[in-house]
Amino acid sequence: MTRTTSQKISIVGMHCASCATSVSKALRAVPGVADAHVNLATEQARVDFAEDPVDIAALVKAVESAGFEATAPLTDTAPALPSSDRAAVREAQGRLFFAWLFTLPIMLIMAGSWMFGSPWPSPLLHQLLMLVLAFPVVFIVGSETMAGAAAAAARSVPNMDVLIALGTLAAYLTGLLALFSSLTSFAGIAAMIMAFHMTGRYMEARAKGRASEAIRRLIELGAKTARVLVDGEEREVPIDQVVRGAVMVIRPGEKIPTDGRITEGSSVIDESMATGESIPVSKTIGDEVIGATVNQHGRLLVEATRVGAETFLAQVVRLVEDCQTSRVPVQLLADRVTAVFVPTALGLALATLGAWLLLPDMMGSAAAALADFVPWIGQDLGRVSMAVFAAVAVLVIACPCALGLATPTALMVGTGRAAENGVLFRSGAALQALVEADTIAFDKTGTLTEGKPVVVGLSPCGSHTEQDLLRWAASAESGSEHPLARAIMNAAEQNADSLPPLSELTAVTGRGIEATVEGSTVRVGSLRFLREQGVVTGPLDDLAAAAEDASHTVVAVARDDSPLGVIAINDPLASGSRAAVQALRKLGLSPVMLTGDNGRTAASIGDAVGIERVEANLLPEDKLDHIRRLQEAGHRVAMVGDGINDAPSLAQADVGVAIGTGTDVAIEAADITLVRGDLGAAVTAVRLARATLRSIRQNLFWAFFYNVVAIPLAMLGLLHPVIAELAMALSSLTVVGNALRLRRARI
Ligand code: ADP
Ligand code: MG
Repeated sequence: MTRTTSQKISIVGMHCASCATSVSKALRAVPGVADAHVNLATEQARVDFAEDPVDIAALVKAVESAGFEATAPLTDTAPALPSSDRAAVREAQGRLFFAWLFTLPIMLIMAGSWMFGSPWPSPLLHQLLMLVLAFPVVFIVGSETMAGAAAAAARSVPNMDVLIALGTLAAYLTGLLALFSSLTSFAGIAAMIMAFHMTGRYMEARAKGRASEAIRRLIELGAKTARVLVDGEEREVPIDQVVRGAVMVIRPGEKIPTDGRITEGSSVIDESMATGESIPVSKTIGDEVIGATVNQHGRLLVEATRVGAETFLAQVVRLVEDCQTSRVPVQLLADRVTAVFVPTALGLALATLGAWLLLPDMMGSAAAALADFVPWIGQDLGRVSMAVFAAVAVLVIACPCALGLATPTALMVGTGRAAENGVLFRSGAALQALVEADTIAFDKTGTLTEGKPVVVGLSPCGSHTEQDLLRWAASAESGSEHPLARAIMNAAEQNADSLPPLSELTAVTGRGIEATVEGSTVRVGSLRFLREQGVVTGPLDDLAAAAEDASHTVVAVARDDSPLGVIAINDPLASGSRAAVQALRKLGLSPVMLTGDNGRTAASIGDAVGIERVEANLLPEDKLDHIRRLQEAGHRVAMVGDGINDAPSLAQADVGVAIGTGTDVAIEAADITLVRGDLGAAVTAVRLARATLRSIRQNLFWAFFYNVVAIPLAMLGLLHPVIAELAMALSSLTVVGNALRLRRARI
């Protein structure tokens, strides 16, 4: 997947999907902006830039001219909890209470009148009471809605507020007109619509809070203070005062304040909160530790290596937040519909009003037929009252509030849950691409295997000794980061030889390295690499074949064009690989192995994990080619590999999945990052991605369903406006509730 740079900004003042649409339209109109996506649930916009980042001020201005407030979030500090969440819930709660305080008496009076068969206490008093009680609900509780509607109308970009405002205002107006005419008063209905609307908004605010719980938990994981050594003395300081290089003291049972390296002591560390891996790992001097993980046994001195926004936890939080504000391709259609929804609804309401006024008999035929079955139909309203009744119901039922919540809530819950299980999705598009993938390609080393190779055999050729072979190889490899290099270095250390220093090094990815050691050119790599470099490898062929027969990786060594021998290296299969490959196959993904290693080793590993399609001896560009060919054959390819060596193939695949452990993993490298080092996390990723996308699809369906079914009913006068509002509130709840179910989905 290709990527662009982007910027997040916070938006204040959005109430509905159509607000979000107008903000994203405004942002997209700014020159240099490739795409903008607004998330109603997180109240954030993500702006993707075509080339160079656009001035934030220009973005803020665009949002403001659309009638909303914008702030660019601070990017250079550690993530902080959004304080607005709880405040929003409290505010919504206040409005809710106030609304029902007046609406309940209205309902009682209406019920009483219905029971007595005549307006209670008297026709005139009844009408006045309705007007007086409904006033605060419509105009005070609803003041924000009214103001939002006025602002939107002034910009002639109608939003959901406009629908509610028009509906309640029209209903309230009938109450005033009823005083002087035979019109029926709907003033009480206006209050009920607003009260139910506020109920829906309150429930939404609460549910949004719950949807973002996972990210809140992640942020709260961070330590608040650290104990650092200053002149040999321990001193407790707030976490933001810990600087890189500071030495922290961590007692058993304490949380590690920030990312660092152990300088003294050893312990067992529970990293489950960071990696999703439940088995604690033992660590000692020199090992990296992750901030927010828990030191279980020993006392540790840890030198801080990353602080603030650089820490692993901060990166994870940022990534999850980014993902939650990103667009999921499936919602494209919904976005298009939302953009025209409110104007269409206004048009339909107007048409309903006109049709009932002009052709009451035709419009009323359905109502007449059903009058005996549905209690609110057929109360003989006059022609005008009936027209208002139907038009108000259309305005109210057409609110696209559920539509705006459908995708973001599911994405928030799904990706939050994923993060807690060590799976980080970069974007909604990555999530969808993983769902759509039918082929999954694996790198071998470090993905299917443990990635901790060990030297198991030294086969020198000619008169060379094992010592010689290892010494030259190890000194050349001392400059390389390749897992095989580490294996050779480890073997050399066991022999406790002081290595000759190396002066020059060229690494050829997927082939090997060439180094200058004590004036000679030493080459270490595949047989093919040595051959390409002009080394006569004849004397090595038999030795190599023997090692390959034993399924070992073969590394050949040459000094100044003459071969020294081969080193056999074994990288055992990671314990969960076979089960994970099987599970992925059950999920409908067909596995392929792409490796730079020799064919025989590759085949034997393939055999052990259960992959038949094995492509060996591949250079990095060959891996790329293979993926491209699979794609040309119509396959959607997910590629799993490490984020560093396999970066090009991860980028070529439809979705790149980087696997790693803890801080090793380059979070920026791939579309999906598996923080937990084992392949089981890939299975979790697929399952969660599917569950999330399924939830999004269901949500979009339900959001549309209510509207599509109910609008015609409302037009025909079959839907009571209060029931319409109730249905709208319910549709939001259905959608959010469905998204929250993801918290318990089986993964
Ligand atoms: P994989 O596809 O299994 O991840 P790589 O593409 O990293 O493997 O490497 C492919 C082959 O190239 C290795 O099996 C090895 O023979 C050789 N090679 C690459 N880099 C090195 C190195 N630094 N030292 C020794 N051999 C290397
Ligand atoms: Mg590799």
